[in-house]
Amino acid sequence: LFSHVEQGPPDPILGIAEAYKKSTNPKKLNLGVGAYRTEEGKPLVLEAVRRAEQAVVSNPDHEYLPITGIPEFNALSARLAFGEDSSVIRENCNATVQALSGTGSLRVGAEFLARHYPVRTVLLPSPTWPSHNKIFPLAGVADVRAYRYFKPSSRGLDYEGMLEDLRKAPEGSILLLHACAHNPTGVDPSLDQWRGILEVAKEKKFLPFFDSAYQGFASGDLERDATAIRMFADEGMEMLLAQSYAKNMGLYGERVGALTVVARDAAIAERVESQLKLVIRPMFSNPPRFGAAIVVKVLQDPELYALWRKELKGMADRINGMRTLLFQELQRAGAPGKWSHIVEQIGMFSFTGLSKPQVEYLTAKWHVYMTLDGRISMAGLNQASCRYLAEGIADAIRA
Ligand code: PMP
Repeated sequence: LFSHVEQGPPDPILGIAEAYKKSTNPKKLNLGVGAYRTEEGKPLVLEAVRRAEQAVVSNPDHEYLPITGIPEFNALSARLAFGEDSSVIRENCNATVQALSGTGSLRVGAEFLARHYPVRTVLLPSPTWPSHNKIFPLAGVADVRAYRYFKPSSRGLDYEGMLEDLRKAPEGSILLLHACAHNPTGVDPSLDQWRGILEVAKEKKFLPFFDSAYQGFASGDLERDATAIRMFADEGMEMLLAQSYAKNMGLYGERVGALTVVARDAAIAERVESQLKLVIRPMFSNPPRFGAAIVVKVLQDPELYALWRKELKGMADRINGMRTLLFQELQRAGAPGKWSHIVEQIGMFSFTGLSKPQVEYLTAKWHVYMTLDGRISMAGLNQASCRYLAEGIADAIRA
């Protein structure tokens, strides 16, 4: 029955982890997957999360959650993104539901739009996190278009190109924006540039869909990383928001996230929520409770919250430290080219600017595993491996 089924291609990101595992070289370095690692190269369970988890475990509850998840989780998540005194929160304009981490939240949001939003065009930055290209059409938002985002010559934002493409896009399009720490480029708009993007979004009556997978993880400051979301919300924009707790709480495998639809008023938001339930029920019925219960404890308990913020800053600081170090090591190794983008980009990733053949060379000769677009996960580096990587990069460029 299934003999005609062809071998699917490996996932562009998760496939790298598999290749890395297979390598027997002791020097191998995994800079592919976007998960935080300590200086010792180990996964990190945050202390705030550990304590919250103990509290959850000591009071077991394995009942089903409601279709929309833990109500406190939803309220706290919306507050974390929009801020306590946001008019969205005060006026209950948000329909917020728990979903399966960032990916699942994007998917529920996309399916909701396919059913209830008349424009089937979604504008994605070029490049973007590869799953965006799949999630929208699979959910029924068929017309996927790219807008210019990364400028290879400056290794920064192609702001003019971006605005030009947005102005040419169909009115009312869904505009996907990375809230902070753009993946894969590490390039974010400046405050002024965000204002410019907001102006075009208003002019063109776009529906912004923020993907927030790194709040607090980019700058180490939760408020600062929510600047763009809050700027758009304060202008009274209706929008969607997908939040993930994978990176900022290190809850990757627990699949904890939230989808928010911001509507004009509370009555509309309530009807939207009833429709989100109709999307979720036949998809996964109701979300898992363990990870979300941990998030509630961390966000609700002032002591755990303060500890979390401190630990979050610690992760962001270590990553920034690796940026500085890699930059210095690249100069030491005499790697041809200008490398200031390594320290200017933010978040978990750096877009090195290495070409596909250079990446292939680095993997074959130096056992450095990374995506073919030249993206490296800064969190996978430490003091020692920065030098090794810099030497490898210098060699790959000269080869
Ligand atoms: N969006 C972006 C831009 C991401 O980088 C990620 C994580 N790689 C996600 C969404 C969602 O990840 P998750 O489903 O694990 O929360």
